[in-house]
Amino acid sequence: MIRIFLDNPEKLSDWYKEKLTEHIMARPITATGGTKEVQAFEKRLEGLTEEEIGDILALTPKKLEEKYDWIQEYIRLCEFCSHYSDFRRESVKKKKLRERREEYLQKHWGKYLEEHVKKCGEEETVRSWKKTDEVRRWAEELLQQLNEAARQKFDYSLLDETGIRGELVRKMNIPVCPYCNKQYIQAFSVGENIRYLGDLDHVKPKSIYQLFSISLWNLVPSCKACNQLFKRVHTAPILDPYTQGFDEDCILRINYRDILEMAGEKEPEADEIRWEIQPGAEEEKRKLLQNSLDLFHLNESYRCNGREISRVLKKRRKLESAGYRKSVGQLEGMETDFFLEYGVSLEPRRFQEELLSKAIYDVVEHN
Ligand SMILES: [Zn+2]
Repeated sequence: MIRIFLDNPEKLSDWYKEKLTEHIMARPITATGGTKEVQAFEKRLEGLTEEEIGDILALTPKKLEEKYDWIQEYIRLCEFCSHYSDFRRESVKKKKLRERREEYLQKHWGKYLEEHVKKCGEEETVRSWKKTDEVRRWAEELLQQLNEAARQKFDYSLLDETGIRGELVRKMNIPVCPYCNKQYIQAFSVGENIRYLGDLDHVKPKSIYQLFSISLWNLVPSCKACNQLFKRVHTAPILDPYTQGFDEDCILRINYRDILEMAGEKEPEADEIRWEIQPGAEEEKRKLLQNSLDLFHLNESYRCNGREISRVLKKRRKLESAGYRKSVGQLEGMETDFFLEYGVSLEPRRFQEELLSKAIYDVVEHN
């Protein structure tokens, strides 16, 4: 997985807000007659100003949480629901379950949870899984109702209704899938329309984080395989490519069996090609790295790239040989051009433009 960069984020978000704000303002909120929490949320949405809509479209969750209490409460509820299954699974065969449950509640503590848990009795709630599961069911039900209200304003279908989806992907200018780094996903014009080869993926699933279903930070152009085959069933959190890639924390390693493989004269064995999480990676990132590797089957899929890896190793041997350097050096003005040699520039900032760029970088620099 690679980190992605937008060319000019401010310009993009100004354009995006201009295209959508008016449409969102015009969408009415129909009251559902739900609980007082739901009614208050609906009222909030109904009274959204142009500036607030623009913020929801363009600000990151962290900034939104700082600026709006009600969004902070919404995010806490989303996270409580979103991480519960993993928390429950990880707790199997663990000790001190009462403390674990209490810790989980505290971690996601917010206005919604507080009111409900206080009614049930805090001590009672963490005493057994049965009780904590009940809180989860209540939270999911509440979130579903809040999301039904949010959908009336912020819905993914708006990108089609306004006809800006293709233009958005083109303006994002991320030509290669950030998850696998193996497929082109470029946008191009066909007559009046803009088509693109991939999908627009949600970092946070829109089924849970409906309020952010069209927020810029949440939309990642990706290939269809990564989005539709692998990501469809995901629950575990993975890296957010807008803030983190594998970087130097996860590296493609080749375990050579002999010198011929190292020299690029023989393909490495498929099983000897693997992504390795580095010992220096921070604890929190390690988990995200592992989840990302597992979700997109990156270890399995890169085993198929033995031939490309072998070619890169052969080129590297040629580049490093004294004779080659000497003959190139004799040609005036000729410097080593990595793009010509390896087909990629070996610049991390350009990984998003070049197929297999992170893998080739690692083979050249770290193997
Ligand atoms: Zn992909």
